[in-house]
Amino acid sequence: MNRSFSPVECRAVELDKVAWVPFPEALSAGGIRWKLLNVAPELGSWAAIFECPAGSSFNSHHHIGPGEYYLTKGKMEVRGGSEDGGDTVVAPAYGYEATSAFHGRTYFPVDSEFYMTFLGPLQFTDAPGGQTIALVTWDSAQAAWEASQAG
Ligand code: ZN
Repeated sequence: MNRSFSPVECRAVELDKVAWVPFPEALSAGGIRWKLLNVAPELGSWAAIFECPAGSSFNSHHHIGPGEYYLTKGKMEVRGGSEDGGDTVVAPAYGYEATSAFHGRTYFPVDSEFYMTFLGPLQFTDAPGGQTIALVTWDSAQAAWEASQAG
């Protein structure tokens, strides 16, 4: 399979032909797995699908650019969930997260799955405006994915 993600080719990914791999534990908790579907260097964007077991979460992050998601299964609490001024979203659901959105913790109370396109990097941080823990750009996402596929 061609994994070079050449920016000039069209492509499609049949999800059942790609294996789930663990999402880095430095950036998440509870056993989240992902499949990188595309990177588009000309947009600085990357697209992935995530499988999130009940009780899993992503660590605090800023969306440096906007993102669009499609929650295909389960339930997602973003920006604290509806009990804390954010949203609790039940599948099937589409969502848009604006540039600079800060997600203190994105939490999945039940087994969930969502697709997301990120226009720009994710900055994992310990607090709003705080210390950067990791900057996930399209090319670092691609590098992490390719490392997971090696061997
Ligand atoms: Zn987020």
